[in-house]
Amino acid sequence: MGYSREIYEQAEKTLELRRLYSEQELEKRRRILYSRSPRAETIERTIAGTSVAAAKAVLGGSDLKRELNALKETNLQLQRELASIIKELGFPANYLDPWYKCDKCKDRGDVDGRMCSCMKSLLREISYEQLNKISPLSLSDFDSFDLDYYSKTPAAEGKKSPYTHMTGVLAFCKKYARTFNEDSRSLLFQGAPGLGKTHLSLAIAKEVIDKGYGVIYVSAPAILSKIENEHFNNKANENNTEQLITECDLLIIDDLGTEFISRFTVSTLYNMINTRMIRSKPTIISTNLFLTELQDNYNIRTVSRIIGTLDRVEFIGTDVRQLKRRRKASADRTN
Ligand SMILES: [Zn+2]
Repeated sequence: MGYSREIYEQAEKTLELRRLYSEQELEKRRRILYSRSPRAETIERTIAGTSVAAAKAVLGGSDLKRELNALKETNLQLQRELASIIKELGFPANYLDPWYKCDKCKDRGDVDGRMCSCMKSLLREISYEQLNKISPLSLSDFDSFDLDYYSKTPAAEGKKSPYTHMTGVLAFCKKYARTFNEDSRSLLFQGAPGLGKTHLSLAIAKEVIDKGYGVIYVSAPAILSKIENEHFNNKANENNTEQLITECDLLIIDDLGTEFISRFTVSTLYNMINTRMIRSKPTIISTNLFLTELQDNYNIRTVSRIIGTLDRVEFIGTDVRQLKRRRKASADRTN
């Protein structure tokens, strides 16, 4: 998959910093070693000197083989002595090697002319970060989800109270995040605004990212206008937005139904969801709309596709944001 030049440059820069870091760390370790054992410093200098001596021997030409063998023997002895000093001091055997983040490519990004897996994941990570930047939301967590905002009185007899219902929803989302894998189900978060859909989907995103998966979190209006822009400015291939969207491990689309509806947005949305479904990739969609409203806004094909494969999670209660504002206002009055 191709990425824009900007993303490649950023990845190269990151690799350069990684190499620099491991060199600096090696120098620090070397200084510690020398301070604990001045003999180690002498040995390292002598070893460096033997290669110069070897070059001189080659130029000198007199009984070359014998001289080179002697140098090699000295060198091996010094190496062994150095290794035993390192061991005696309780340092690991690779103490004087650079400790790279990726041993396969030594943080160079390629092995035998082929792109290393670390470079591939770096490119992916940077692209995800850039896409996630278009959602002006910081990641929430489960701990800050406050169930006290949900009423303990059922709306009708025989029904669960919002508190009991949302306790179940919270537990479900926690379990979903904790056990997330490539085979996880897709979800549809549905309910009026201010009932915690965004909060819980961001909490899932955070935990799944922490597990090392590639997650893209976007609001429907933001992503659709980005794709539309790229499409009409012929930047679609360069930025790969649609490809990233369909390939990431978990796609979260927030606020479905608030975007500008056009033939382009409906078909883009349909393609996005459909492609992920074919590839069995989990998607979480949240919407304030009822199914009938979704049907009115999109053509039936899109809606039946969405409903058919997503597990519906219903959010009920009274707008938490309004309750928070009211509580704050009454607290301000009593203060
Ligand atoms: Zn690598």
